[in-house]
Formats: sequence, structure tokens, C-alpha cells
Amino acid sequence: MSDDNTHSDRTINLGTTRGFGADIEETDEESNQGLFDDLLSGEPIFENKEVLRPSYTPHQLPHRSDQINKMATILVAALRGETPSNILIYGKTGTGKTASAKFVSKELETTSKKYSTPCDVEYINCEVTDTQYRVLAQLANKFIEENEQLIDERIDSLQSLLSATDSYDSRLAEATTDSSDDQLAASEGPDSRSNSNTVSDPLDSISDPSDPDPNSTSSIQTGNTTSPTHSGPDSAETATSDTDGRPSPEETTPESGDFPLETEGSSADPSASTSPESTDRSPLAETPFSSADEIRTRIEELEADRDSFEDVPMTGWPTDRVYSVFFDAVDYSERVVVIMLDEIDKLVEKSGDDTLYNLSRMNSELQNSRVSIIGISNDLKFTDFLDPRVKSSLGEEEIVFPPYDANQLRDILQHRAEVAFKSDVLSPDVIPLCAAFAAQEHGDARRALDLLRTAGELAERAQAETIIEEHVRKAQDKIELDRVVEVVRTLPTQSKLVLFSIILLEKNGVHSINTGEVFNIYKRLCEEIDADVLTQRRVTDLISELDMLGIVNAVVVSKGRYGRTKEISLSVPLEETEAVLLSDSRLSDIDDVQPFVQARFDN
Ligand code: ADP
Ligand code: MG
Repeated sequence: MSDDNTHSDRTINLGTTRGFGADIEETDEESNQGLFDDLLSGEPIFENKEVLRPSYTPHQLPHRSDQINKMATILVAALRGETPSNILIYGKTGTGKTASAKFVSKELETTSKKYSTPCDVEYINCEVTDTQYRVLAQLANKFIEENEQLIDERIDSLQSLLSATDSYDSRLAEATTDSSDDQLAASEGPDSRSNSNTVSDPLDSISDPSDPDPNSTSSIQTGNTTSPTHSGPDSAETATSDTDGRPSPEETTPESGDFPLETEGSSADPSASTSPESTDRSPLAETPFSSADEIRTRIEELEADRDSFEDVPMTGWPTDRVYSVFFDAVDYSERVVVIMLDEIDKLVEKSGDDTLYNLSRMNSELQNSRVSIIGISNDLKFTDFLDPRVKSSLGEEEIVFPPYDANQLRDILQHRAEVAFKSDVLSPDVIPLCAAFAAQEHGDARRALDLLRTAGELAERAQAETIIEEHVRKAQDKIELDRVVEVVRTLPTQSKLVLFSIILLEKNGVHSINTGEVFNIYKRLCEEIDADVLTQRRVTDLISELDMLGIVNAVVVSKGRYGRTKEISLSVPLEETEAVLLSDSRLSDIDDVQPFVQARFDN
């Protein structure tokens, strides 16, 4: 990258070269002082930074094919109209659980469209949607929306059946007056998908009533015709519209009789054929309708159904009402529903296992649909809090996502880097270093990507032309500091006071701090800001917590006959941490701290 290159084509500079005030009309628009010009002129490092963000869903997931294939093997049941086993997925953060699950669910949904097997996947992030009410309300509203769409499609197709029937009836009336059967038989059949095989062999049409292509036997046409009940719209009409190459009927046809399938509009029931003519069959043949009026009634029923749906408000209803709306919405039509509960441990932690209990017992009561659950969690401990029935039902299948090692992380980064960066901006040691750092961080791909992105941003800010090892090291420090700042900022006040005591001691050159020293300073700080004073035992616990968070380091040392004590030291940057603590309004009231530290010698 040469300098002349970077400064070519800078149309953005026009305003400044022209000088101010040359043209009054133009000054408003063009008189900037070049605040952004210099920044824009630097050759950008990134081609597409979004690719490195957590929100981006990659198209390829290297080193996860085992897990993805296992999920697919279990979920393919849904495409056969069967209920897939529930799945519990677990692994540390950043091991690709969410990305893999979303990838699989997208594939499942598109395949289900392709083969017209009704299957829905609903994704819920339980870190955001963390109560039973919210989970059920969100699901209910999604299914209501889907049912409305189904009904609209259904009404559309009934409407075309209706007009086909009307024109058939009027032609029939004409023909009867003419007493000319031949004429009728020769006339073109009504324009309707469900009548596409009007002139084909009637036996053919019994086995495959709606599809002219024998290789594309509709997988949900099980011949299991029901009369037009009020149980909901079917999906038969969507099935008839799909003729594109499915491999073989055996592979995709669900076991018949799994569901009561409502096949109105394209029924396989030959008895429904009421045509007075055997040569030109009525559009109503193979539908459960015997007259145009019945279709009209059905359309009215569907419209009434649609009007009866009521969205669940995000708060305010009794939970059992929400549940029953959700239940009815799911059961409105035949389908397999996969409910994906990501960060499921957060839901259980916050509101127990009621949601899982209710979801896992639904299948015994559902008439038309089937529900299967995929739970995703960062650890397995949450299952200890589950009712044993829920635990065994949810864990029918378990899939583990192990941490990535440095080599795997390297591959993942390599794939993304090709899209994310301009060519030749990465020096060769950058990706291996990011991978090595993230491998230490329990093989976290999210951390690896963060590092690479942050290193790129630091290089960009420094107007460097390439990203080098140093940028990665700085990125590592920055990410670590960001994490510390966030942890410290959100500590409870008592922990902040304990941490502040440790900082004051260190600032005053005290090394090998012990619990008693911390406690003395802590007490005085509490008095100063009127906070409750905890016992020394509790303060010891808080110190252990800070240790676990990686903010302090506390080692137990033996003091011979004086027993054992803790030696405490700060493991985060002192000044930054102090600044975060003092940004808390309660702590910022403490001004002159020197006397507190002096006081430790008095006690
Ligand atoms: P988890 O849900 O296990 O915490 P995610 O699925 O959110 O992890 O993955 C974290 C980040 O790493 C995401 O940006 C994701 O796209 C990326 N990632 C994880 N595994 C892979 C992989 N095998 N290939 C490509 N990107 C991956
Ligand atoms: Mg996740």
C-alpha cells in the first residue's frame, strides 16, 4: 500500500480545496473542517468487519460436523412426521453451540419447505426471555402469527377451488341443457391445481390425487382423510404445489397415520367424488367438499378462527391462560415443532423448571402437532435442579461441544479472516497468536474472533498497514481490561468496599495483605459511608469470591502455631480498577483515605 494510492480519488477534499465562501449557497453543505477526511483516507484494514462479530452466522462451521450430523440424525424424524427425541446440548461458551444449532434449524426449515412436511423451529434465547410467562407468550404469539398465515394460504386455495367449482357447475348446467356429454368431456378442465389430473386415470388419482408427477408423491397425502373439521387448515395444498426433485418417495414420506391429516381441497378419498360425470370430474372430486356451499362455510369457519386469535400481552395474564393459548396455537394444525431453548440454564436458574415440565408433557395432550425440545446450556449443573422426569425427558439425547484446541481455532479464524480483511493485511503470526490466547481461554471461539477484530481495530486506529503480533497483545490486554471493568462495575457495594480496602493497602505499599488488615480498613470505610458492617467471616467469603472472579489473588499460608491466614494481592491493574470503584456514587464520597490505612497499625 503506497501513500499515493491511499490519497487518490479523494473527492471528499473538494470542499476544502475550493476555499470557503466562494459560493455562499455551497458553504452549508461543503464547508467541513476535514474532521473525518483523514480517517477516511487511511487504507482500511477491514473488508467486512461484521463477519467477525458474534451476531454473524457463518455458513461454514469447521470442526463441528460430528455435532451437526448428530443433531441432523435426530431431527430428521421431524421431516418424517415423527417426533424427534429431545436434545440437550452442552459445552463451554464459545464452542459453537448457538451457531451450530441455528445452522441446523435453518437447514431443517428449508428442507421441510422443500418436501412440504410441516415443521417449525422456534428459537428462544432464555438469557433474554427468562420467565415461563415470557417464554410461553413469545411462543404463543409466534404460532398465532404462523396460523394466520396458514389460514390465509388456505383461504386463497379454497377460493380458487370455489371459482373452479362455480365454473364447472355452470358448464355442467349448460351441458345438461344441451344434453351433450361429449362436448363437456372435450372441454378444458377448470383451472385448479387440485384438478390438475382431471383427465387422468381415476385409479392413478386415488393413489396420488393431486400431483401429476408420480415421482413426487406428496409426503403428507396419507389418504387418511378426515371430514372438514374445525381442527385447522391443512397443509395439503402446499404439498400439491411442490414438484421439484425429491430423491425418492420412500425416503421422505412420513409414516402414514401418525397424524390426523386434514386433506380438504385435495383429498384422496374417492367417495368424496360426487361428480355426475365419470369423464369430466368435478373439482370437488377428491376433496371433502360436496358442494360450493360447503366450501363457503369452510372459508367462513377459517375466517372466524383467524378472528378468534388473540395475541398474548407481554405481561398481565395468569400463566395458565398463556399456556392454554400457546397450546391451542401449536395444536391448530398438523406439524412437528422444535423448540430451541438457548441458555436454558438461565431460565431454570431464574424461574425453575415449570416451563420445561409443561413443555415436555405437552405431547401426551396434543391432537395434531408434536413438540420436541432442544436445550442448550453452558454447563450441566442446572440439571441437578430439574424434576427427575423433566431431566430424563430433556436429556433423551445429549450432544457435547468440547472446547476447541489452538489448531481448530486457527482454522475457524482463517475462514473468517479471508472475508473480513483486505488481502495481505495480516502478518502470518497474528492468527496463530489469537488462536493460542483463546485456546488458553477454554477454547473459546468467541474470544478468538474478538481478539482478531480488536487487533484489527487497534491497527486501524494506529493507521498501520498491517496487523502485527503487538496489536494482538494489546487487544488481549484491552479485552481483559474491559472484562475487569465490567465485573468490578457490577459488583455489589459490600464487595466493592472490600476490594477498595485491598487497593488502599496496596497503594500504601502493604504487601502480603491478610484478612484482618482488609477487615480493619473495610470497617472504617463502612462507617464513613454509613454502610452495614459485615462480620469478618463474611468479608473472608467476599474475598474468596473476588478471587474466583480473578480480581484478587488469595493464597492460604500457614503461620505455624498461629494457624493459617490468607495472603491477598490485587491481580488487576490498580489505577483502572480504582477509577471504576470511584465512579460508584457511594464510594466516591470517601475522600481522604490516608487515615484509614494509618489506622491499621492502631488495631
Ligand atoms: P456458544 O453458543 O457455544 O457460546 P457460539 O455458537 O455463539 O458459541 O460461537 C461463538 C462465536 O464463534 C460465534 O461468532 C460463532 O460464529 C463462532 N464459531 C463458533 N464455532 C465456530 C466454528 N466451528 N466455525 C466458525 N465459527 C464458529
Ligand atoms: Mg450460545
